Amino acid sequence: MDTVILAVVIAVVALVAFAGLLVGGRRKKQLPPPPPSAPDITAPPAEPKAGEEAETPGDEERRTTEEADLPGSPTGATLVEEVPVEPAAPAVEVPEPTAGRLVRLRARLSRSQNALGKGLLTLLSREHLDEDTWEEIEDTLLTADVGVQPTQELVERLRERVRVLGTRTPEELRNLLREELLQILNPEFDRSVKTDAKEGTPGVVMVVGVNGTGKTTTTGKLARVLVADGRTVVLGAADTFRAAAADQLQTWGERVGAHTVRGPEAGDPASVAFDSVKEGIATGADVVLIDTAGRLHTKTGLMDELGKVKRVVEKQAPLDEVLLVLDATTGQNGLVQARVFAEVVNITGIVLTKLDGTAKGGIVIAVQRELGVPVKLVGLGEGADDLAPFEPQAFVDALIGD
Ligand code: GDP
Repeated sequence: MDTVILAVVIAVVALVAFAGLLVGGRRKKQLPPPPPSAPDITAPPAEPKAGEEAETPGDEERRTTEEADLPGSPTGATLVEEVPVEPAAPAVEVPEPTAGRLVRLRARLSRSQNALGKGLLTLLSREHLDEDTWEEIEDTLLTADVGVQPTQELVERLRERVRVLGTRTPEELRNLLREELLQILNPEFDRSVKTDAKEGTPGVVMVVGVNGTGKTTTTGKLARVLVADGRTVVLGAADTFRAAAADQLQTWGERVGAHTVRGPEAGDPASVAFDSVKEGIATGADVVLIDTAGRLHTKTGLMDELGKVKRVVEKQAPLDEVLLVLDATTGQNGLVQARVFAEVVNITGIVLTKLDGTAKGGIVIAVQRELGVPVKLVGLGEGADDLAPFEPQAFVDALIGD
């Protein structure tokens, strides 16, 4: 009996062992094949091929999150809960006072300009002021865009005064140069921007100039100058041709709490000008500033356009100022533009922008001569308060140092 039991046990064990072998063999077949060789973790990461972007760990995750957050994306809709947010009213800024701005911004001028003043002083300090030296002085002035006629006058006066002076101390030379530069800048010009309101009508200023000179920026900065001086301003976005001009002006206005009147894109500039003066009158504003389009397509085209703007404005209120904006860095080209605009409309003042980016400050002298109209404001940077009333004394001091 015992042998029978033993035989049965052996048979069962043998059967179980055989079944185990079968199952094990099958499992082995299901395992994936091993990689051909393990990656070398000490090797530097491969450079991305041209056109491929290197991915850093987490890129994928970031991309998924960004995609999920995109408004309107199906996943975004479930991930981002929409909470209605009241648009915050833009904070109204208080611009810097305008008095003495040119003195404060003097460093901007002297950085780029004092090459002219220093150059002239060095030349005038030479022991022998011979013909060659006078020619060098002339060249220095011409290079700084002072213009031919004013240069000749200036050199003539300097020659005469140096001759009378005899021996020259550096201090005497500096004073002499200061006096002559000041003289040629016409210090007697009235440089105030006329913006006084009359009986029931606001002061009206039209800003003209070729696109790119800084016309819209200047209109915005001028609004700040006026607000800083306690005036209320309405802006007229009559540059309806440059797509972004109205938005740009409106942004400037919002910063100081001035409302901008605008029309449809490519609409009639004169109708925007009309509406802005109308709003100025209706709201009792002190000043209306009108930014115009500066397309120098044809002289007649420009004349028609600006003429019409002027006429519709004058139906409602007298036009106090027509400010011509010129880019100081364009030199002789700026003078050509000045001539064209002066033939088309009666310019009453010049704004010279980008005087911070040029060593050719002599353009101030040249353009005043060309038009017989004063430079009233100068732009000395892209900052909101980088527009200064032009003061000849401070300008000359910046040129030659005091
Ligand atoms: P618009 O086409 O004549 O209206 O020109 P914008 O007002 O758009 O100005 C053209 C560019 O000139 C802008 O980038 C302004 O920031 C820049 N700009 C304007 N005035 C000045 C200035 O006085 N100095 C400098 N450096 N940049 C200026």
